[in-house]
Amino acid sequence: MLLDSTVLPKFSHRVRFTRGAFDAANPALRNLFAADEAIATRRAVVLIDDGVARAYGDALETKLRAYFAAHATSMPVIAEICVVPGGEAVKQDTRLCDLVVELVEKHRICRKSFVIAIGGGAMLDAVGFGSAIAHRGVRLVRLPTTVLAQDDAAMGVKNGINRFGKKNFVGAFAVPFAVLCDELLLETLPDAVFRAGFSEAVKIALLKDPMFFAEIEQNAERIAARNLDAASPVIRRSAELHLRHIADGGDPFESNAARPLDFGHWAAHRLESMSGYAISHGDAVALGLLLDCRYSNLMNSKAEGWLSDADYARICACIKRLGLPTHHPLFADQDALLRGLDEFREHLGGTLTITMLRGIGRGVEIHELDTTLVRAAATELA
Ligand SMILES: [Zn+2]
Repeated sequence: MLLDSTVLPKFSHRVRFTRGAFDAANPALRNLFAADEAIATRRAVVLIDDGVARAYGDALETKLRAYFAAHATSMPVIAEICVVPGGEAVKQDTRLCDLVVELVEKHRICRKSFVIAIGGGAMLDAVGFGSAIAHRGVRLVRLPTTVLAQDDAAMGVKNGINRFGKKNFVGAFAVPFAVLCDELLLETLPDAVFRAGFSEAVKIALLKDPMFFAEIEQNAERIAARNLDAASPVIRRSAELHLRHIADGGDPFESNAARPLDFGHWAAHRLESMSGYAISHGDAVALGLLLDCRYSNLMNSKAEGWLSDADYARICACIKRLGLPTHHPLFADQDALLRGLDEFREHLGGTLTITMLRGIGRGVEIHELDTTLVRAAATELA
């Protein structure tokens, strides 16, 4: 007997941008729950990244409790608020993930109740994984608090933690209940954290939208100087392009080998791991992009139609003017770097598929890399 079937679940993936999400007069957070008629009977555990908690002191928790109280008939009941560590370190072991599972059990969070995570990309990844495995998935509301989390990570439908020195080795696909990006939370970020997030905007612009790249290029200094009038539209456009790719690209759970959103990431993940996660993901992506852009440019020595010298120079200048790194000594350890290609191939399922550029806004999938050219590009960036 054959019972082969197609399972086709449908998810809605709701993303909103606002400013001042915890001001009682701002309905954005409350509105996330509007469709649930039994919402006032639901419970929520709230986890706050200590980076955010430090920036606001007790004020954030007080404001949050006041907001939930002011909208009590249309919000879940807060069962507990926990301040937890953030940053890549929380993905290095299972402690944060375990804590989420324990909180779900302790407060009897059912599959219709909530984990609300307020934090950066790494914290959202670890909390997201705990939320995905407790009861095989409770409702997760993400409030991303860094540029990188708002312009890329929180748009994703995956989560994970690191093991065996490999990024995101353990994780799951899970569509969040909702994502609410509050631009006010970006104002208290350290400079380096603020800037690091723009490498993902450059990445998606290089892949999909030359006009968007030109916009980033024109505003690079203002963005690096943290002018939100310049930065906000870039963050929102990047989020939109990431979300469109995931929602409309036909492969949200990454069954195919082609992974364009991972442009520049094979080297980025390897550099993060080689540095013991001292290099932030955003900085590593800037470096990984430059490596693959230079490779795409060096390909002109073998065939026509690859990234031009002028376009490569524009990309380098843009990344530099955004205040992102353009060189790193770890590029000198090329044997270690190239092991990242094997890891990426293994992760994809055997066939290497890497995105390179024929021009700005024109990505192309390739299945073989000339390691001599990779080494030449890496030598220049060391
Ligand atoms: Zn990334």
